[in-house]
Amino acid sequence: MKTAAFLGLGAMGVPMAAALARRAATTGGRVLVWNRHAEKAQAHAAGYGTQAATLEEVGGAQLILTCLPTSADVDEVIGQLEAHINPSTFWVDCTSGHPDAAQLQRARLLKRGVKFLDAPVSGGVSGAEASTLTVMLGGPADEVRAVRGELAFAGKAVHVGDTGAGFAVKAVNNALLAVNLWAAGEGLAALGKGGVDLSAALDVINASSGRSNATENLIPSRVLTRAFPPTFGLGLLAKDADIALDVVRAVGSSAPVLAQVAALTRAASQLVGPHEDHTALLKLVEQMNAQEIR
Ligand code: NDP
Repeated sequence: MKTAAFLGLGAMGVPMAAALARRAATTGGRVLVWNRHAEKAQAHAAGYGTQAATLEEVGGAQLILTCLPTSADVDEVIGQLEAHINPSTFWVDCTSGHPDAAQLQRARLLKRGVKFLDAPVSGGVSGAEASTLTVMLGGPADEVRAVRGELAFAGKAVHVGDTGAGFAVKAVNNALLAVNLWAAGEGLAALGKGGVDLSAALDVINASSGRSNATENLIPSRVLTRAFPPTFGLGLLAKDADIALDVVRAVGSSAPVLAQVAALTRAASQLVGPHEDHTALLKLVEQMNAQEIR
């Protein structure tokens, strides 16, 4: 596809659009960028060889990608853009969105001949910078095939099912992230309170069956160090855990552990702050135990 447009230059959008631009430089394509606060689009164009564009210009692209906080934000942008979009455009939404919204967005855009695919990503800012993100695609197989090769920021792109399935898988993945973080935090707070050295405890856990990405990577580099670098907001994690519960409810399943941790994540987001890094979830564990995890 000759022209791609990337909308939403946040923590993820900046490196994802940059990866598209690097690819386009070798294939002769071009990458337009748009951001609600336009100065970020101008800075991106200057830094990465993209072109800052108006929504009217974005409407002429063959491929539109979005990476915004929520599906409600994507709805807003669809509202501003739909009058300008070419009928044969693909709209690939990399937001961690809601499966129900994906159904409505696809139906709405299909009326204009535009094909909407849900395509959330995992791998974080570092994965976006290294173009190693995992993309989980929901939608018809032929449309997934048409866009898969365009996703220059992906290390892996998996077709997980029909429209909404990508958002559902992403929500469950992030609910598991919250569960693993929370559970590890509870265990470490207790060990710390009992006088155990937590680096030594993690050394053991990470060579044993209790390990997870939380114990191997997140807690050693972000919590023990007290750095909590804000790459993925706690409010976004709470949103994802809530979506996972909607996924559970939609099929009449029972998931009491996910429900409990979703509620704790929401509480932590409100008490600690939605813009804190998601690992600051453990600050609530610390408050509950009067024990720092360090
Ligand atoms: P950020 O908060 O860093 O960026 C949000 C972007 O969305 C900004 O460009 C912002 O524009 C734009 N935006 C927000 N609301 C609107 C709106 N109503 N209309 C138009 N633009 C809007 O978010 P992230 O990049 O961290 O996250 C984006 C998505 O990716 C989320 O769904 C998140 O859950 C998911 N995600 C995040 C990861 C991470 O590590 N950060 C990892 C994997 C997935 P402006 O600059 O004008 O405010």
